[in-house]
Amino acid sequence: MSSQEYDIIIIGGGPAGMTAGLYASRAELKTLLVEKMIMGGQMMTTTMVENWPGYPGGIDGPELMMRFQEHCVEFGLETTTGEVEKIEDQGAQKRLVIDGKEYLCKAVIIATGANPRKLGVEGEEALVGRGVSYCATCDGAFFRNVPIAVIGGGDTAAEEAIFLTRFASKVYMVHRRDELRATKILQTRVLKNEKIEMVWDSVVTGLDSDNTGLTAIQVENVKTGEMRELDAVGMFAAVGVTPITGFLGGIVALDDSGYIKAGEDTHTSVEGIYAAGDCRTNVLKQVSTAVGDGAVAATQAEKYISEM
Ligand code: NAP
Repeated sequence: MSSQEYDIIIIGGGPAGMTAGLYASRAELKTLLVEKMIMGGQMMTTTMVENWPGYPGGIDGPELMMRFQEHCVEFGLETTTGEVEKIEDQGAQKRLVIDGKEYLCKAVIIATGANPRKLGVEGEEALVGRGVSYCATCDGAFFRNVPIAVIGGGDTAAEEAIFLTRFASKVYMVHRRDELRATKILQTRVLKNEKIEMVWDSVVTGLDSDNTGLTAIQVENVKTGEMRELDAVGMFAAVGVTPITGFLGGIVALDDSGYIKAGEDTHTSVEGIYAAGDCRTNVLKQVSTAVGDGAVAATQAEKYISEM
């Protein structure tokens, strides 16, 4: 099998991976970034990013990612679409199989991010695309003038609920506690929005459907045991994320939730393999922290390669 050789291979094309790519290629290291789907990661499903410094008034997630991509390609970063099937640590050399082809490199940066977590309620999977969604920006416009529900109490749920009021006649926000986890500014916006009805202390217990798709959501109040039917024909689950690390096959140590064990220096349990962004154990998951991680991972990889 003929193989391609690089100094660094970055897995994942979100903010962490692209920043790592920018730093590595600017340091004149032969770098390949491999992305399974489309460049930009979770930011491609975000509307307005209000906390990325330098953009008062906010910037659209996909637009920001397009600028990231232009910027790292400007420094000569090579990108490819493909799925990493295997990573082998051969000491000074790492071997990757991407879509059946062999790639060799000196250092690997894993920046695969995370996927939305499923609720785990019966019928959820079968109703994806027929009422159930994990992305308000992708699917919100399909729910004009109808009642819908957002499940969760974090930043994503709050942003999605606010965004969805543009389309829906009403948005139920179902949260399992009586206090939101979302940041204060988003909490205030949610609670002030007349189109949003909070359904506190409640969890989804069932989904009703017919041949058109979702017709109602059954929820249970976890404090009183009271059951309620919500007349929602759309359900946007925003109950957190799951790191994309299953494909690693145990090559680096993971914590109990599947996040790659790596500190602020991005070093994993294997020398020459670094983890950046949402797939790593970190205290904050933001574009800014992903960007910071990408920069650290690339400079650590550069140092490792130069000391080889
Ligand atoms: P998150 O902060 O982990 O919040 C998940 C929410 O879902 C929590 O309210 C949680 O309830 C609830 N939940 C979890 N499992 C559940 C289940 N099985 N059933 C019902 N509810 C469940 O996730 P996120 O909102 O996706 O945010 C992920 C990270 O991205 C966070 O660090 C967040 O700050 C960041 N983010 C930031 C922005 C921004 O700055 N603009 C936007 C989006 C996301 P509990 O509260 O009871 O745990």
